[in-house]
Amino acid sequence: MTKLDSRVGEPSAPTNFIKQIVAADLAAGKNDGRVVTRFPPEPNGYLHIGHAKSICLNFGLSAEVGGFTHLRFDDTDPAKESMEYVESIKEDVRWLGFDWQDKVFFASDYFEQLYDFAVQLIRIGKAYVDHLTADEIREYRGTLTQPGKDSPCRNRSVEENLDLFRRMRAGEFKDGECVLRAKIDMAAPNIVMRDPTLYRIKRVSHYRTGERWCIYPMYDFTHCLSDMLEGITHSICTLEFENNRELYDWVLDTLRTPCHPQQIEFARLNLNYTVLSKRKLIELVEKGIVTGWDDPRMPTISGYRRRGYTPEAIRNFCERIGVARADSTVDIGLMEHCLREDLNRRAPRVMAVLRPLKVTLVNYPEGRIEELDAINNPEDPTMGSRRVPFSREIFIEREDFLEAPPKKFFRLAPGREVRLRYAYFITCQEVVKDPLTGEVTELRCTYDPATRGGDAPDGRKVQGTLHWVSVAHAVPAEVRLYNHLFTQENPGDVATGGHFTDHINPASLEVLTGCRLEPGLAAAAPGSPYQFERLGYFCADAGDSRPDRLVFNRSVTLRDTWAKIVKKETGGTKGAGK
Ligand code: ATP
Ligand code: MG
Repeated sequence: MTKLDSRVGEPSAPTNFIKQIVAADLAAGKNDGRVVTRFPPEPNGYLHIGHAKSICLNFGLSAEVGGFTHLRFDDTDPAKESMEYVESIKEDVRWLGFDWQDKVFFASDYFEQLYDFAVQLIRIGKAYVDHLTADEIREYRGTLTQPGKDSPCRNRSVEENLDLFRRMRAGEFKDGECVLRAKIDMAAPNIVMRDPTLYRIKRVSHYRTGERWCIYPMYDFTHCLSDMLEGITHSICTLEFENNRELYDWVLDTLRTPCHPQQIEFARLNLNYTVLSKRKLIELVEKGIVTGWDDPRMPTISGYRRRGYTPEAIRNFCERIGVARADSTVDIGLMEHCLREDLNRRAPRVMAVLRPLKVTLVNYPEGRIEELDAINNPEDPTMGSRRVPFSREIFIEREDFLEAPPKKFFRLAPGREVRLRYAYFITCQEVVKDPLTGEVTELRCTYDPATRGGDAPDGRKVQGTLHWVSVAHAVPAEVRLYNHLFTQENPGDVATGGHFTDHINPASLEVLTGCRLEPGLAAAAPGSPYQFERLGYFCADAGDSRPDRLVFNRSVTLRDTWAKIVKKETGGTKGAGK
């Protein structure tokens, strides 16, 4: 079982610990009153919801105090990076509602400067070229309880190191034949500080610098210097870099750089029933387990967008989960709650029937069509109303009829009267079945003309209200219903064993063909949200929906388990569920 974060849902504190640090720095006049943060993705995959947390945090921090946030592509590992990823990242950050203005940078633009910094380290005796193999380096590193030991190359002269490093760059050595290492302390209690590698040889073409380089700088060397070159004041990263902070500071201190950004760590976002690691997400894409990075079941920003999530809902979610220094897992139900809360206000309500059952109103005149008034959103009167066509033949939801209803079933049944939303009371008179299969194929009902609009003048009540569409007017559509992509809260958890793909939910996608929508939906813009009454929030699929072949995604159901929890804990956030 995943331990869920019990903090979420609490009223978000006016400030988090990073905001407090920034405020204190401003008050103390540090950095001449500037606040510059950065969001530094590696362009080796699409952004996911964890990145959204980092984006909201970094851009939010600087925006609050009139600072800047740089978008920096941390592209020093050429094997898996590409321009496609760069473009997708820009699109996703923009879509989330953030603006880096002209502050877009690439670590690969610093390659020459980084090389010079490495030469400087060699010159002052703080870096050396090592010919140990990768295995030997690991072996020499020691363990948490045992100090490492010095490489035989550690005491090479400055001249020899300068020459070897120049030759590394010139391509005179094979991949892996040697590396450049910082000369720090092989007995340092923090293993990161035991002469970390700064450069390795890698004959891989880079998507921006091509074949120009065959040596590439390591993350720990690149990141602090990139931050410094850009004048970043607060370099915010996830907790797994806590041990690397000492090295971050060592590089800048040793090179006596003119500015020294402060690294601050926070807990990464984990969501239950979800994997948030690019490596795993790539595997889902490459193995064809999902249809692509923007498959609506993916926890990527592009997946959420296609599914029908709004930037507002995601930003609100990131605000609610807060920023802490302890790792925890957030319930995916909170995300869904944030989406409902947003869509409840903005999505027009319409009628759609996912599994149609035909109803003929035997006493309704043949050929007659009425245009009935329907309210677009009771939450927002300014959204007005629309006309919905009604006729003798309609579709209702198959599950809204039961021939032998159990006690608490208040919908349609033989002899029973219910309300058709915005239309009339109808009573089921006859059930038509397929003679071979016994399946119910049609209901023959009567309607009460006195109940137009959905109210009986004699005050008689009905217990059920059904949504419907007119057979002759409804437009056909395919509707895709989604479920968690994984069956386990913590897919691939060591305790549950196995590989994370062993826990794929076979029912994560249900495709319904033959659905019928009220006619106005033929013109729905892809991604534009609607509430299908009683069924959830939906949008036309941006990838597959065409005017002649409508495809809708269910963004989220109406059932909200979080509404109550949040309401109780905050004393009032309004839930959207019903
Ligand atoms: P992954 O683990 O998914 O491969 P990453 O950390 O390698 O992610 P980067 O492109 O390096 O991906 O991340 C860019 C920024 O986003 C980093 O500052 C990183 O700390 C932050 N980030 C990545 N994943 C999360 C997460 N789950 N929660 C919060 N921030 C995250
Ligand atoms: Mg990373």
